[in-house]
Amino acid sequence: MAFLKWVLLIFTLHSFMPSPISSNLSLNKEALAQIPLNFLEFSKKPEIVNWMVNIRRKIHENPELGYEEFETSKLIRAELDLMGILYKYPIAVTGVVGYIGTGKPPFVALRADMDALAMEELVEWEHKSKVPGKMHACGHDAHVAMLLGAAKMLQHNQNDLQGTVVLIFQPAEEGGGGAKIMLDEGALDNVDAIFALHVTARVPIGMVASRPGPISAAMGFFEAVINGKGGHAAIPQHTVDPILAASNVIVSLQHLVSREADPLDSQVVSIAKFQGGGAFNVIPDSVTIGGTFRAFSKESFLQLRQRIEEVISKQASVQRCNATVIFDERSMYPVNSNNKELHEHFRKVAGEILGFENIIEMQPQMGGEDFAFFSESIPGLFFFLGMKETEGAVHSGHSPSFRVNEDVFPYGAALHASLATTYLLQNPTKYTSPPEVSYRDEL
Ligand SMILES: [Zn+2]
Ligand SMILES: [Zn+2]
Repeated sequence: MAFLKWVLLIFTLHSFMPSPISSNLSLNKEALAQIPLNFLEFSKKPEIVNWMVNIRRKIHENPELGYEEFETSKLIRAELDLMGILYKYPIAVTGVVGYIGTGKPPFVALRADMDALAMEELVEWEHKSKVPGKMHACGHDAHVAMLLGAAKMLQHNQNDLQGTVVLIFQPAEEGGGGAKIMLDEGALDNVDAIFALHVTARVPIGMVASRPGPISAAMGFFEAVINGKGGHAAIPQHTVDPILAASNVIVSLQHLVSREADPLDSQVVSIAKFQGGGAFNVIPDSVTIGGTFRAFSKESFLQLRQRIEEVISKQASVQRCNATVIFDERSMYPVNSNNKELHEHFRKVAGEILGFENIIEMQPQMGGEDFAFFSESIPGLFFFLGMKETEGAVHSGHSPSFRVNEDVFPYGAALHASLATTYLLQNPTKYTSPPEVSYRDEL
């Protein structure tokens, strides 16, 4: 019944639409607003919800780390095959890129990440991780399930899509920069815009949070080895103490943000690792420190990086030590910034599904997201999907007690499908004779 309504709606919609190639497209607003509601109705069907829940639980039981998501990727491809959705594989080792619609411009992408974390699950439930030391504690299993849910609905309506929806299933979001490799291997070629969601237990279910402009910071990791000369702790004059040097390095690093950065330009430098020595009476030969730095502009980020290196090596030399600093290039993520027009589009779609009062305009956060590689390359929009239950403790992402509220799945799937469908309807291709892309030949 719902599907029939949807078909009727599209039919109605078409009667209001001139050729999709027209640059002067005027859509019936009410008909457009109805699309997200129809998707929500569809995605709430018990058979769709159960199907998404089963997929998520299968992935949850078998978590795989970045670039090792072979079984997850296989499961995704099997589902795409069942739905008759064409895809490219492999991209970035385990990545999958699916295509639904005309195969012609415009192209709009929806992204889900697939990787788990190297940690032990503490939640006792039927579908607990079966792999020791690995857990889906960030909700990426749910992201995959919801994007497949959207794919199912979009495929049902493929003949009505005014362009092509590109499904991005990417590896290694958690510090592996999977998005960067996907980009390098052409996953977003010809794509005009990209959307992604992330579940969060900090926002109530039925609500979403996002903002125009920067939403998550650029991030980098560094490690430094400070070398001195070990010896008896009671005879310090015969040693070159790397513990003291490292301590001064850490204090000096804290001055970068407090003394060198503009107070209105948010930045972070944190030392999270300090390893050195193992006895009360031995000064060690070396100390290893490591940490992370965050900033909201490329300039501030590069400035921090340069100063971290200078401060570590020069401050260490004050105590007669040598230091080597290594930056982990693969986990260096740019600023994740939301395109203003796409944010407005997101607000309209989310408002139709959830009510405008349930859209939170959030503050930017210092946590990094490798979606930043996508949103740096083409217009992108990243939002948080609330899943906080009315009762019970909140366990944020990366907690061993993290749990996904599966009631959120219809919202996520409907948001994905609606964002893409209405984007295509409202952004007809600028080309008078759209070039057909060749992905079908390359499969
Ligand atoms: Zn995470
Ligand atoms: Zn995540």
